Amino acid sequence: MSQFPRCTTASALVLTWALTACATTEAMNSTTDPMASTSSALLSAAAIQISHTTVTGGLWLVPVSDAVMTAAAQGQAPSYQSHPVWVGKVANQAMAVIGLGLSDAGEQALLTADGQLLASTQVLDRAYAEQHLTLTQTQYVNPDQDQLARFEREAAEQKAAYRVYSTTGAATWPRFQWPLEGRISSLFGLRRFFNGEPRAPHLGIDIAGTLGAPVHAPARGRVVLVGDYFFNGRTVIIDHGQGLFSMLCHFSDIRVKTGDQVTPESIVGLVGATGRATAPHLHWTVSLNDSRIDPRRLLVAVPETDRATD
Ligand SMILES: [Zn+2]
Repeated sequence: MSQFPRCTTASALVLTWALTACATTEAMNSTTDPMASTSSALLSAAAIQISHTTVTGGLWLVPVSDAVMTAAAQGQAPSYQSHPVWVGKVANQAMAVIGLGLSDAGEQALLTADGQLLASTQVLDRAYAEQHLTLTQTQYVNPDQDQLARFEREAAEQKAAYRVYSTTGAATWPRFQWPLEGRISSLFGLRRFFNGEPRAPHLGIDIAGTLGAPVHAPARGRVVLVGDYFFNGRTVIIDHGQGLFSMLCHFSDIRVKTGDQVTPESIVGLVGATGRATAPHLHWTVSLNDSRIDPRRLLVAVPETDRATD
C-alpha cells in the first residue's frame, strides 16, 4: 500500500472537522439529492477524503496507537464483526476505518487481534427511502430456476472477493475520485421494489452516463475480478487494499483484466446497460470490512443529516 498517494493538508483539515463534528447535527448537501449532479462533489473531491458518521451505511473512524498500526501491517489487524479492518494513516494520523453495514444498527465494538475491546460505538439506524422501479424484462424481477442458480453462484463469487484482506505494509488511505461524471440516478441504501415486489436494497450508487463513455478507477488498486453477471452485467472489482473494494457494473466493454494495477487515470471500461439496467449507467459499490457503504462517504463535501429519507 506504500504506493498510495499521501493525504494532503486539506484532508487533514477535513479529518479534524470529521472527528469533532461527528456527534453534531449534520447538514445536507446537494449531492444527496437523487437528481443532483456530481459536479459540485467533483470540485470538492480534491479536499475531501472521508465523511465520518456512525450510521448504517456510514464510516467509523477510530484513532489507534502506532503499536496497533504496526501489528496490522504484520497481519494482526483489529476486527469488527469478525472481519479485519482497514488500519493506516488518514491525514497523517493512525486510524482504523470501519465500514458500517445496513444491518449494523446498535452497539458495535472494535476488537484487537487478540479479542480485547479497542473501542465501541452506537450505530444509528439510518432510514433509507423506498424506490419503485418498473422493469419490462420480468426475468430480472422473477428469475427462473436456472437464472436463480446462476445469480447465487455469482453472488458467492463476488462476496468471496470482498472477504480477501490484502496487506502490503504500511497503508495510507487512498484518494478517491468520481469514476464517472454525471447525474446520480439512484442513491445508496434505497429499499427497492421492482414491479411492486420488494427486493434487496441498493448497495451502491448509480451514475447516469452516455453509452460508451469512459469510466475511471475511483482510486488506486488492483483488479481482482472481471465478470459478466446476471444482475450486474459486465463487472470489475478493484481491491484498494486491507478489505477496501470498489465494484463497478453494467459496462458495455471492459478495458482491464484481473491482476492489472489501476490508478484514477486508468479507464476501467465503458458505460453500458448490461445486466439489470433500465438505461446506460455506472453502478458503484464500495465494500469495507465486508460492509457495503455509501460511496459518497469517500467524496462528499458535507456529510448528510440523519433524517428519515433522502
Ligand atoms: Zn445500481
